[in-house]
Amino acid sequence: MEQTLLILKPDATMRRGVGAAVFEQILNALPDAKMKGFLEIAVPFHLAEKHYAVHEGKFFYPWLLQFIQVGNVLATVLEGEDIVARLREVLGATFVEKASPDSLRGKYGIVGGVNVAHASDEPANAEKEIALWQKEAQLDLSQDGFEAINAYIAKWLETPIVATEQIRQICQDYAREYLNRDIYQSEITELLIEECPDWMEAELSTLANAILGNMDLDRDSDR
Ligand code: ADP
Ligand code: MG
Repeated sequence: MEQTLLILKPDATMRRGVGAAVFEQILNALPDAKMKGFLEIAVPFHLAEKHYAVHEGKFFYPWLLQFIQVGNVLATVLEGEDIVARLREVLGATFVEKASPDSLRGKYGIVGGVNVAHASDEPANAEKEIALWQKEAQLDLSQDGFEAINAYIAKWLETPIVATEQIRQICQDYAREYLNRDIYQSEITELLIEECPDWMEAELSTLANAILGNMDLDRDSDR
């Protein structure tokens, strides 16, 4: 049976309500999927490098390595018929602005590539990624992920998700001239405080920095 690797990236994990909502909507959209293993970890540098090795050399590669290490990620494996393509459909297009408004990236993504989650893009890559995460992160597929995910949803679903639109607006304002970065970073950090009960201001400031960092890529390239 086909498997795929789902990783909630730091923007979804730190915003606990977003993580819970994303899991809940994935369970609803893919009711036949089996969830195997469930892990919250800080991604070590060597795993980040290997996970994103296919993007090595691209202009956004350094940002990717930085972003996935901003805060913890949540990893799980979904199993089911045609699950690779179906999970990607639920997530939506890579860039938040291109993702359909009712996809998870369209609803909860912040901007550009700050897009909630990673999902394997084809079955052969899924196999490689799952093997990597088993080896390097001790993702344990014998553990029932369903129960752990439901516990996560129950714990965090009430956490407010109130800042998405405001942070998007701040990013747009920043991208008009790319000036006053520190001020925009503090404004985003302030908004994140309400949504991220588990993290300290300095850590949220790192997330805000990475969000603006994705905008900076936009300035520096012809994306
Ligand atoms: P996906 O996550 O949809 O499979 P890719 O594998 O192409 O997309 O890229 C991996 C991740 O890198 C994306 O999810 C996104 O976070 C980031 N990314 C990709 N392309 C860009 C870009 N042009 N600018 C900024 N970030 C990007
Ligand atoms: Mg990809």
